[in-house]
Amino acid sequence: MIKIDGSEGEGGGQVLRTSASLSLVTGQPFRIENIRGKREKQGLMRQHVTSLEAACAISESECDGLAVGSSEITFRPGSVKSGNYRFAVGTAGSTNLVLQTILPALVFTDGPSHIILEGGTHNLMAPPFDFIERAFLPIINRMGPTISAKLIRHGFYPQGGGRIEIDINPAPLQRIECLDRGKLCSTSGTAYFAGLPYEIASREVKAASKILGWEDGAIGVRQLPEDQGPGNILILEAAFENVSEVVSGFGKLGLKAERLAKTAANRMKGYLASKAFAGPYLADQLLLPFALSGGGAFTTVKPSQHSLTSADIVEKFTGRKSSFDQQENGEFLVQIG
Ligand code: ATP
Repeated sequence: MIKIDGSEGEGGGQVLRTSASLSLVTGQPFRIENIRGKREKQGLMRQHVTSLEAACAISESECDGLAVGSSEITFRPGSVKSGNYRFAVGTAGSTNLVLQTILPALVFTDGPSHIILEGGTHNLMAPPFDFIERAFLPIINRMGPTISAKLIRHGFYPQGGGRIEIDINPAPLQRIECLDRGKLCSTSGTAYFAGLPYEIASREVKAASKILGWEDGAIGVRQLPEDQGPGNILILEAAFENVSEVVSGFGKLGLKAERLAKTAANRMKGYLASKAFAGPYLADQLLLPFALSGGGAFTTVKPSQHSLTSADIVEKFTGRKSSFDQQENGEFLVQIG
């Protein structure tokens, strides 16, 4: 039984999801204590419970201690079955993080799966749908599987009610190297808003365009149906030949449109100024699939605490060690052994 201290490293929900994903694929049970030990409100939250319930449902796994607020669980993996599944987070919790938990296991089955996920689709501190669709999945598809994602309805905090659908056609994961992002093909963005004044989105567009120096019209505005709100997110995208970076600014009560736009635009500026393949979020999310493919390498900006923690958990389950070496040009070469 692999033992994990959930307060180590980044000490949040990712420790738990990464462990559950790896347990399903490798067949090794695990026990985790001090779940989300570095968070102010510790223990399992609704979205983490849904992720683990989903992990159990696709595999007949057993999970002791599975309840909101729980600070320790024991997970015994069963055998993963492809098929049609539907999971509802029940709050605005992130559907994309539920997907992150079960996707690796479903990629290792021998049949197609269709997954419906309901809850939040654009959440603070989680990958927004656009990131999953255009930054993360294209890399996984390059490794072999064919995975497509559709956004049916946006779901914002606190209302939720969003829906995404995923089709997975599995194939063995091939080891790849992602060292070069290629040439810049396009830059674009969209300020989405629902149940809020148009002016918020237009101010975000103006502020972000100014910082990035992108031409007029590169960032658009899209109004979503009133009943999907209130909600607001600014998505900025840079598509390179070999990878896309999708950066987001999440609207929240009391946060000025210009500040949100500045944070997102500066993140994009930082990525554009580097030559690295993966931005900070893509980097932490690639470690697990790369390890499961047998290794590989990619370049990234300065590794986040999420990446270092993910590398530790991956090593515990797979024995594969990751190295993060800064190169002369400042970017980091990540090699998964
Ligand atoms: P908590 O931190 O409350 O325990 P959690 O379970 O939601 O909550 P984390 O452990 O912080 O989360 O993990 C968040 C995951 O979401 C990480 O894999 C990170 O890469 C990803 N993520 C966060 N923000 C973004 C973003 N803007 N774009 C893409 N991915 C993101």
